Amino acid sequence: MPPHHLPFDTTYTSPYREAMERGHARLLFGPALEAGFRDAQYLTNLAWMRWVSWIGIATYLAFVAIDLATIPLQASRWTAAIRLLLIVPTLVVALAVSYRTASRAVLTPVVFLTATVVGCGTVGIVVLSLALGAPVPYEGTLLLPFVIHLLLGLPWRQALGSNLIALAMFVVLVPLVQPDRMILTYQLSYMLLANVLGAWGGYALEHRARASFLTAGLLSELAERDGLTGIHNRRSFNDHLERVWKQAAREGGNVGLALIDVDHFKQFNDRHGHGEGDAALRAVADVLGAHANRPLDLAARYGGEEFALIWYDPQPDQLHAMGERVRRDIAALELHAADARIDPITVSAGVAVLRPRDIPRHTDLLRAADIALYQAKHGGRDRVVVLSHPAPGELRFPGTPVS
Ligand code: GH3
Ligand code: MG
Ligand code: MG
Repeated sequence: MPPHHLPFDTTYTSPYREAMERGHARLLFGPALEAGFRDAQYLTNLAWMRWVSWIGIATYLAFVAIDLATIPLQASRWTAAIRLLLIVPTLVVALAVSYRTASRAVLTPVVFLTATVVGCGTVGIVVLSLALGAPVPYEGTLLLPFVIHLLLGLPWRQALGSNLIALAMFVVLVPLVQPDRMILTYQLSYMLLANVLGAWGGYALEHRARASFLTAGLLSELAERDGLTGIHNRRSFNDHLERVWKQAAREGGNVGLALIDVDHFKQFNDRHGHGEGDAALRAVADVLGAHANRPLDLAARYGGEEFALIWYDPQPDQLHAMGERVRRDIAALELHAADARIDPITVSAGVAVLRPRDIPRHTDLLRAADIALYQAKHGGRDRVVVLSHPAPGELRFPGTPVS
């Protein structure tokens, strides 16, 4: 690997902040944020979609009774058939899909299809009743764009597509069966207006949801991430360690912790200035982030030029090799300043592993890793020392200053 020449880019740029600055007028983030946004929207949308479907089923069933009571049978049996055989079953299927966790990936296409079937079915009721000389009021179709855009939780483009299909059907078929030009003109105008207003509202709603998503993401980053390196901060590290400690206590597993300290970093700063020092810390943090691979692993900046890696339930006999890989990957960066007057940066690592069922306090793991780090420094730096399941007596800090 070629040596890195500092300075690198020295500020961590949050993807949330970047997306905020770029704006989202087209209702689209980059791939990673977009997936996160859809995920975050999923639960809210699911609740709305279920409510709307239940209300839709009740409404269309109620209108079967109203049709049969108010319009002649030769028309009402057709309108009732569309309601009972097309619209209600489609809503029932959509609801059934929404209650199956395994169908999560197909829910959005299913909701899109359902909205389209319900929209076209409702237009079909108007067209058929007009054709059969027993026109039911068309006003119900005016509600569709509002419900589909504002209450169904579909992405805006899909809601728009679904509404445009029903609108096209309305614009093409209603003029064929509506004999009164004046009424037709009003109907078409109101349908267009309802679609424009619904689409506008839907756009504003999604735009705002995206803005809130970015704000919430940025806030949680500010609370949990280190401002220089972008990896987790000390607060987040403490919370996570307590959480995995409890989980390992329940499951009977181990928790591994590596404390990693940059060697002679004061010298590096003194020679090259804090700007290059900062860039070096970022590069080190990037390597550490790549060593927190499993879902419960975590890389954090512990403070200053000291970092921490939590490994959830590692094989104790693997820990030395794991620590060595971290040390070697950082050495392989060959971090030195452009003029390369001093040796590249190295790190010392103190690694400890404990089983929470044997030792109840997570602070003992910190103490053990700290002792191991002290030994690594004392032993000459640029090395890894592992304390595996130390006895309580071994957890006394040596207390001699490192020379
Ligand atoms: P040792 O091998 O014993 O760890 O030596 P050291 O020089 O790394 O340790 P010491 O604790 O004496 O100095 C740590 C240095 O890390 C001093 C401080 O200026 C530097 N440092 C801490 N935080 C930052 C930071 O955010 N940016 C920069 N550039 N330097 C930092
Ligand atoms: Mg140091
Ligand atoms: Mg230090």
